[in-house]
Amino acid sequence: MKNKTTHGIKELIKSLINNLIWTGQNKGRPVYARYGVPLLFVILVTVFKLQLNDLIGVKSPFLLYLGIVCFSAIYGGTGPAILISITSVLTADYFFVAPVGAFSFNTDTCIKITLFLTECLSLTLLSYAVKVAYQQVNKNEQLFKAMIEKGSEGIILTDRSGVRVYCSPSIEKVIGYTAEEFLELEAWVLADPEELPWMMEQLDGLMKHPGKNISFIHRMKHKNGNWLWIENSITNLLDDPAVNAIVANFYNVTERVTLEQQKEDFIGIASHELKTPLTSLKASLQLLNRMKDDPGSPNFPKMIEQANRSMDRITSLVEGLLNASRVNQGQLHITKSVFNLSEMIEKCCSHIRLEDKYHLILQGDRRLQVCADENRIDQVIVNLVNNAMKYASESDEIYLIIDKSGKMAKVSVKDSGPGISPDKIPHLFDRYYRADPEGIQYSGLGLGLYISAEIIRKHDGEIGVDSQLGKGSTFWFTLPIEG
Ligand code: ADP
Repeated sequence: MKNKTTHGIKELIKSLINNLIWTGQNKGRPVYARYGVPLLFVILVTVFKLQLNDLIGVKSPFLLYLGIVCFSAIYGGTGPAILISITSVLTADYFFVAPVGAFSFNTDTCIKITLFLTECLSLTLLSYAVKVAYQQVNKNEQLFKAMIEKGSEGIILTDRSGVRVYCSPSIEKVIGYTAEEFLELEAWVLADPEELPWMMEQLDGLMKHPGKNISFIHRMKHKNGNWLWIENSITNLLDDPAVNAIVANFYNVTERVTLEQQKEDFIGIASHELKTPLTSLKASLQLLNRMKDDPGSPNFPKMIEQANRSMDRITSLVEGLLNASRVNQGQLHITKSVFNLSEMIEKCCSHIRLEDKYHLILQGDRRLQVCADENRIDQVIVNLVNNAMKYASESDEIYLIIDKSGKMAKVSVKDSGPGISPDKIPHLFDRYYRADPEGIQYSGLGLGLYISAEIIRKHDGEIGVDSQLGKGSTFWFTLPIEG
């Protein structure tokens, strides 16, 4: 409460200074005010002095005008100050220097006038210097204010007794609460209760060491109820007379932490995915090694087939990893040529036709031609069809539909599998994202759709999915039509 009152008084004084004296932009004041107001004061002081002539005499005729020169320099700037100096000299000389009612420029008066004008000049220069300094301070203050208020980090100042005395408005961008709302909340109420003990331990240590800085990442609840990862950098500036507080700067690092977690998960999954075919390949090779003296064995061709399948799986995984790394580095190059979509689909899906279980049905406009990278589009279609076989294995019919949609050709791969829940759909094309339903674990790296999306984006097309739980999914993409 006391802090708020002091702050209010400070603001009031500041605005008075700004408005009464100048805002550092007295050029913004109308000219008639900058010159007129000081002139009015000259008239008032002259009338006032004339009335009091008998009482106070005319011993120092210029003295009262000095104040007005000072005021005009501050209020109106250098121009009004010069005008008022000259006006004051003439007025004082005419009204208050003998002979009264006429101008006198004898030696004595000239000395007094010179002294007065020198004082006026010093005052004007001094005011100018103060004005420049004030403008500079004002500018710096505006700059720091903008940095603190518009930045993406929150800043909290806490005093020695643990009371939060300041909170930057930018905190709203980080945790959703306005600065006022946040200051009303109990300290650390938004932190994860499980993390609080070790955080308090760190803070206790910090309090004992002036000048020390600590940084840690912790969880904090956003106003919308979501948990965020916050990087907090806290410095003990209690002994710094200019700050006299514990300063906490904090940022939202949820995206970074999530990505790091995803990367770690990914390394685990990738190693596991590679280990399975490698183990199988090793086993096949060991058996083949034992059979090398008996090539007629009925198991010989079986083992070779198994080794080949393992090699294919390893090759496909490594290709996926290489493609993802190319996408990351922006090095996914495409070489376009004109080709017929249905002919290309027939060719690329021949491996599926060989598998008895799945019935691949190609429908739609068979004449559509596109100008695209045939190999890359082949890769996208194979990925979508493989996904349909993997994630919708119970739907033995997979539809491949080619449509015309304005100037674009649309290719859809439709299955009647389990579908995908709506909350997972927005993330499907993200790197490393896998949306396995609970209880089922499919193999995969979560890169296929990410790479496919990048390939389609490079062709100025769109990629998406329409899916309903229990009814199936339709993954689709579009490409500009040729001709
Ligand atoms: P991967 O298959 O290697 O995990 P993808 O990027 O190809 O990676 O697929 C991402 C996720 O999308 C998969 O983990 C899966 O859960 C989901 N998905 C893809 N296609 C289908 C589909 N046809 N039906 C249901 N889920 C699918």
